[in-house]
Amino acid sequence: MDGLGIIKGLAVTARRFFGTFKEDILWWGKRYYTDKGIARRMSSDVQGIFTVQYPEERIPTPEEFRFIPFLIYEENENGERLDRCTSCGICAKVCPPQCIWIVRTNDPKTGRPVPEPAEFYIDVDICMNCGLCAEYCPFDAIKMDHDYELAVYERQTNNIFNKEKLSKPLSYYASIRPINYSREEQMRLAAEAAKAARLAGKSQSN
Ligand code: SF4
Ligand code: SF4
Repeated sequence: MDGLGIIKGLAVTARRFFGTFKEDILWWGKRYYTDKGIARRMSSDVQGIFTVQYPEERIPTPEEFRFIPFLIYEENENGERLDRCTSCGICAKVCPPQCIWIVRTNDPKTGRPVPEPAEFYIDVDICMNCGLCAEYCPFDAIKMDHDYELAVYERQTNNIFNKEKLSKPLSYYASIRPINYSREEQMRLAAEAAKAARLAGKSQSN
């Protein structure tokens, strides 16, 4: 029949149009600006509009999400910062676009190198977020951050991150990557226990 295709097409359009509002009605008052509403809109069952209203809403960041690297520091009992980084330079060597610069610390009296960085820079405009620096660091000193809101007005200087800007406490790392953190802590404790057992065995044999 002439015009049947047009009627079918309009019916599809009408179904889609009204379907857009179905979830708004079913989730009345909870669809926007609630964690459950965002989870529903991210699920495969969602119907209608599933746009996340960024920046008012943010989708949860998966643990393995990676953006710009950051340096971990720990604190001793006096509250002093202790860099995990030993300025070994491995991360700078493996970085594919070569966007890491490190200046080693030297003992002013002897001139010998001290295992901590005097300066540490990453050009975050060049960083390609590959995560190789974090993979290769033998001291778990550099990790990939979740912070992706880094827009600035002046990128020539603001996007060269220095040591101060790159440094974050261990507790921050534990909060954004709890599974990785706990696995590394277990490995570290196991290594320390093995070392202590080795030393105890040596002292007994002497
Ligand atoms: S972050 Fe790790 S790999 Fe890079 S210089 Fe420091 S200790 Fe070495
Ligand atoms: S994430 Fe990749 S590109 Fe960025 S600093 Fe690390 S190694 Fe270099």
